[in-house]
Amino acid sequence: MQNEYDLVIIGSGAGGAPIAHELARKGKSVLMLEKGPLILPQYQATTGVSGFRRDEALSTGAEKILRLDVANKGMPYYSSHVEPDLNDEPHIYRRADGSDDATIEGYTAQVVGGGTQLYGGVSLRFTPRDLTLAQWNNRPGAALDGDPNDEVRRAARDWPFPYATLEPYYAKAETLVGINGEVANQRKPFTSGDKYQKPLAYNPISEHVKAGMDALGMPHYRTPLAVITEDHAPSGRKGPQPGEAAKTAYVNRYGDPMGFKSSTWVSLLSPIKDLPNFTLLPNCTVTHLSSDGARIARVHFLAPDGTPREVSGRTVIVACSAIESVRLLKLSADIDRTGFAPRINQDGNGMLGAYFLTHCFGGASALVSSPERYDKSETLDSDFASDFCHADEFLAAQRIWAGAVIYNNTSDRALPLALARNYGSRDLDTIWQGFNQATELVSDALDAFLDHSFGRGLSITFMANQVPVKSNRIELHPSVKDKWGRPVAYIIKDYHSHDVALMNKLSGVCRDILVRGGVTVDIGSGAVFGKDELARCANHILGGARFGTDRTDSVLDPDCRAWGFDNLYVTDGCFMPTSGGANPTLTIQANSFRVADILASRI
Ligand SMILES: Cc1cc2nc3c(=O)[nH]c(=O)nc-3n(C[C@H](O)[C@H](O)[C@H](O)COP(=O)(O)OP(=O)(O)OC[C@H]3O[C@@H](n4cnc5c(N)ncnc54)[C@H](O)[C@@H]3O)c2cc1C
Repeated sequence: MQNEYDLVIIGSGAGGAPIAHELARKGKSVLMLEKGPLILPQYQATTGVSGFRRDEALSTGAEKILRLDVANKGMPYYSSHVEPDLNDEPHIYRRADGSDDATIEGYTAQVVGGGTQLYGGVSLRFTPRDLTLAQWNNRPGAALDGDPNDEVRRAARDWPFPYATLEPYYAKAETLVGINGEVANQRKPFTSGDKYQKPLAYNPISEHVKAGMDALGMPHYRTPLAVITEDHAPSGRKGPQPGEAAKTAYVNRYGDPMGFKSSTWVSLLSPIKDLPNFTLLPNCTVTHLSSDGARIARVHFLAPDGTPREVSGRTVIVACSAIESVRLLKLSADIDRTGFAPRINQDGNGMLGAYFLTHCFGGASALVSSPERYDKSETLDSDFASDFCHADEFLAAQRIWAGAVIYNNTSDRALPLALARNYGSRDLDTIWQGFNQATELVSDALDAFLDHSFGRGLSITFMANQVPVKSNRIELHPSVKDKWGRPVAYIIKDYHSHDVALMNKLSGVCRDILVRGGVTVDIGSGAVFGKDELARCANHILGGARFGTDRTDSVLDPDCRAWGFDNLYVTDGCFMPTSGGANPTLTIQANSFRVADILASRI
């Protein structure tokens, strides 16, 4: 292995892979260091058998007990093969009462491809308005519910460039990643044209959603999903062949053994894997960066056998998924308090780790009435989406600061396995509980439960901007250490009162869609994520090192370069100053393609 590269990229997910793809193809020497393993789809595996299992969150192996000195000490858990073991390297989440829980929340996936291996693939663009929320909320006469102290207006930030700057990169991402969907009725300009593959026929259960949206006058479109439905020339992947069912219905939280799901491995990295100037090292954990003045001089990592190694790059890209990127930068600052620390912390302006964001999300779910029951195996996870709640008029009328996409999920209760997985779970840490501890669900009761729920679940979700709050932040935990003796990430996060108002309104809209769509059984709605329970981070790990034009108010410049350094860029979701009214991954990818263009002219 050589010691010096044009580019060292840390993390192979949505933020890292587009840059590797572009710059390796331009002949630059690129080293990619990835903490997780390389798991191949079956068409690439020499055995013809993929290393992915049907449900990555269900573990094999013995039950373990949490040993760490935290509030949930003693909790039983299982670890999965794509997430860190809870005792080895947890995230610590501070509860409302000030005590700490150890959790795997906020890890997307530790594997080549990162979160894009397990994601649901919902690949929406942000709207132009999502990028100009300061402008919008400072208009004359703006009024918001749940914001008595006028904090939201002051907290809102515009992105340092308009939607038009990102648009060609959205199109590039849609082309190279491989996404199916529909442009018509989206409230975003598609100036560079329609790059989608054709959607599959929708699942008949989604008729309820379509009918509900129509009844409410909500223009809708087929949800863009990062799953190929046809041959995909840029990555050389074959789509489902005639007579072959895509069988990709179980996209969300599953690694796809067939490679139809467009993870960054199959779409962006696999096409460059044989280039002599590209090296991918899986199972390598970067421990810290060291600097020489304004340059990152060395990237320190542990080789797969645990041996400490180091390497240098003319440019270094950090893309570890926001929480772990912030942690890596803070760990590096801890090790070098006179050199690295003042530069990354910008002489103590308190911005690194601050304004951590996820999304406001929630919705409504229900069962369709008996005797309806649907085979959900032949469609993808989401069929219809609407940008109705993105319209300025909607925001003004509802007195909310920002818009949201609304889409349905068909995969709920698709399989007995999925039912088991969710039953009784409060969050990702307990998702494995399933029927294990449900002693009441035996014999006829189990039959009745399956009969009641199987093939009948339908849910509608909204994904909305969360108000950026400085005290929502990532720190290094003062006492809990990982298995290598390094402080773990400490997540301190709450929702603003306006977030709560917004989530209540939007979950009401989701409920209305179900009701008007003729769904009547077991309708529940609300902001799914209350304090201290359920999925606290929503898998959307954003902010913490936001970009901007004012260095006192940001960590990165508009090119995603750390203000205090010449050759350090951070390109996972942590650059976002606002979290957007849609799932974030396509925007992370588009932004990385944008940064790749900037780097191509600089290196
Ligand atoms: C179940 C699930 C469903 C989701 N569904 C959707 C969806 O439908 N739509 C959507 O837009 N988003 C979805 N997401 C979120 C999506 O996965 C993330 O937004 C996206 O992957 C983030 O990109 P990233 O580059 O920030 O991080 P990632 O893609 O997670 O990549 C980070 C990589 O860095 C590696 N890494 C971390 N630390 C180190 C280190 N110290 N050294 C070396 N490597 C390191 C990690 O192992 C990982 O591979 C989902 C996520 C999950 C888990």
